[in-house]
Amino acid sequence: MTDVFVQIAVDQPMPVLFDYRYALPEPPAVGSLVLVPFGRREVVGLICEVIATSDVPADKLRNVSAVCSACPPLSDVWIALAGFAADYYQRGLGEVALPALPQALRDASRWNRLFAVDERYRLLPAGRAQLPDALPARASALRRLADALAEQASLGMSDARALHPRASATFEDWLARGWIELAESSDGATTEAAQAGVPPTGSAALPVLTDEQRDAVEAISGAEGFAPFLLHGVTGSGKTEVYLHALAELLAARPDAQALVLVPEINLTPQFEAAFRARFATLAEGSIVTMHSGLAEGERARNWLAAHTGSARIVLGTRLAILASMPRLAIIVVDEEHDPAYKQQEGLRYSARDLAIYRAKQLGIPVVLGSATPSLETWWQAEQGRYTRLTLTRRAVAEAVLPSVRLIDLEEERRRGRASVEGLAGPLIAALKTRLERGEQSLVFLNRRGYAPILSCDACGWVAGCPRCSAYAVLHKPERALRCHHCGWEARIPKSCPDCGNIDIAPMGRGTQRVEETLASVVPGARVLRIDADSTRRKGSAQALFSDVHAGEVDILVGTQMIAKGHDFRRVTLVGVLNADTALFSHDFRASERLFAQLTQVSGRAGRAGLPGEVMIQTRYPRHALFQALTRQDYVGFANSTLAERREARLPPFVYQAMLRAEGRTLEAALAFLEEAAAAFGTLPGADRVTVYDAVPLTIVKVFNVHRAQLLLESASRAALQASLRAWQPVLRSLKGVLRWSVEVDPQDV
Ligand code: ADP
Ligand code: ZN
Ligand code: ZN
Repeated sequence: MTDVFVQIAVDQPMPVLFDYRYALPEPPAVGSLVLVPFGRREVVGLICEVIATSDVPADKLRNVSAVCSACPPLSDVWIALAGFAADYYQRGLGEVALPALPQALRDASRWNRLFAVDERYRLLPAGRAQLPDALPARASALRRLADALAEQASLGMSDARALHPRASATFEDWLARGWIELAESSDGATTEAAQAGVPPTGSAALPVLTDEQRDAVEAISGAEGFAPFLLHGVTGSGKTEVYLHALAELLAARPDAQALVLVPEINLTPQFEAAFRARFATLAEGSIVTMHSGLAEGERARNWLAAHTGSARIVLGTRLAILASMPRLAIIVVDEEHDPAYKQQEGLRYSARDLAIYRAKQLGIPVVLGSATPSLETWWQAEQGRYTRLTLTRRAVAEAVLPSVRLIDLEEERRRGRASVEGLAGPLIAALKTRLERGEQSLVFLNRRGYAPILSCDACGWVAGCPRCSAYAVLHKPERALRCHHCGWEARIPKSCPDCGNIDIAPMGRGTQRVEETLASVVPGARVLRIDADSTRRKGSAQALFSDVHAGEVDILVGTQMIAKGHDFRRVTLVGVLNADTALFSHDFRASERLFAQLTQVSGRAGRAGLPGEVMIQTRYPRHALFQALTRQDYVGFANSTLAERREARLPPFVYQAMLRAEGRTLEAALAFLEEAAAAFGTLPGADRVTVYDAVPLTIVKVFNVHRAQLLLESASRAALQASLRAWQPVLRSLKGVLRWSVEVDPQDV
């Protein structure tokens, strides 16, 4: 028998494939996952090529140890997608492909249990009657198994194993006794109507589309080949309904087609998932799966396999789902496409929205980017006619109109001697009281959690700081702690100034906790609820808090951007915005774009049902163009003037950027690395068309005792930038002196 060789991608920071000899009984296939010896370890890799001869000397070649037969091979198209992402973001193929897989697939010891994962068992009446008495008295693990079977319609083997390590032997025994049965696989339960993806009966309950919605759905459904759409719809205009209809038509027309729907944060928008589950309730069980980092590993693997094998028709996921294997993918939706959450901020720093566009182009399918405030990159594409613009100008619910936006001029309030209480201006307090009297809900938004960002001593000027970061420690009152929001450092609140002993140390500025406290005193009788990363730390607690709001058990909701996203609060008629000014003067050129989007989002929570909504923004700069555009609800004006400024200043989307970041034990080390890298850059192909800026420290230069600096590169030619970055990689790898470095293409924070 002649030898066969394979080229394998592994998750290593090297842009190469590795050759191995393949001598397993199963025929080798491109796209299969394999276990291979790598150095002194064994790692999981992906077969990218099957070859007849290898350039590696025979005595250096090692053998593939095992192949994962439980996972059908990944397609060439999927490997090409991972390859594109690797090229574009300056990584090795394996660094993209393997982390894109669920953990269970990257761990070879779990391979032979992968399909068992799908095996589900159901309690039979005989078992229900006899099992409880048959269990030995102290067999608590067995009892948990029996209870789980009794409580759930069916129990998966992976969950069963978590309850009892010998679950499979136990189940064999119980099967033999006729107490349980293997639940039918979800495929078997499919009906014809379900296959066709027809909306559930009782379609009387479906809203009649507005003309604008109908036009949008028709444009999407009628598209052929690669068709990028920008669905630009004001908040509450019913974008979700457009997605639902477009998907229903497509899934009905093609009974095997799959759809991928991306959302920024699945846990914060349970209504969105609920809408899909309700609308596609007649699809076979298991046809809608979710993919996000909050899933348990077993479920993540099951859902991934369902998408990979095609049994999942709709995948609802966060950014990581963009690399899901979906062999019959026919449409991609990116909801709230402007949301920064689509950008992965560590490891492979990809933009799921940009990859969605690439993926749609690769497959020749439609992609719908939806937003009330599209990113300027997307808006520019639409302006040039590269993306088809679909516009929803009105709120979908007949009575609902967009809220009016009013600016409260803090300077004028002060000049006129109208006191604000703890940062809440008089008119806002009055408006909050009126809402309480009318039994309507209010929402107070500020983007800062904790009680106060600064704790300081008046006598000597001491300020509480994080010992590990160049940042202030944030005062958290309910937790009675000082916390660093950058590294997690925590300490008790000192009773007196550690420097001079003064006991009058005082908080400066305010965060959500302090505003919550203030609201309780200035709006007596109001039930105030705070929602931020601190109040929702426990799993599932955000959902519980939001349902209190929906149930009307809350009068005033105060929170960070967590409350701005996607929620359809029916009874909110007032939105107050505090502390928006800080973002106006950021050094990051995208700060104003983000602020506009955020304020539009949070404003959009008001007046969604019949009651008119009002938004009050406290500011020292009421004449600022951004606020003026907001009061006119004028995204288009804001976008076009901001684009004009960007063009003038030669900023994205008119140029392409990349960032080299370095982390060192000292700032000098980080800067020296970047300067050496910059010096070497000049000689690379394409470098003459790239501008290299000076290396600079990050605003918060030290985090967890690591010093950080960055170097910005910019070019009018994406190709030139890409080519030079590619050629730069080996140079960067040869440089020493820093703890870590990374290249980010299209950085969002500059
Ligand atoms: P968006 O995502 O554009 O902010 P949503 O999709 O959340 O808006 O829709 C806002 C509200 O309007 C939802 O309660 C939705 O059920 C409702 N809605 C959407 N389309 C229609 C329609 N054609 N008729 C009546 N109500 C609708
Ligand atoms: Zn002091
Ligand atoms: Zn810190």
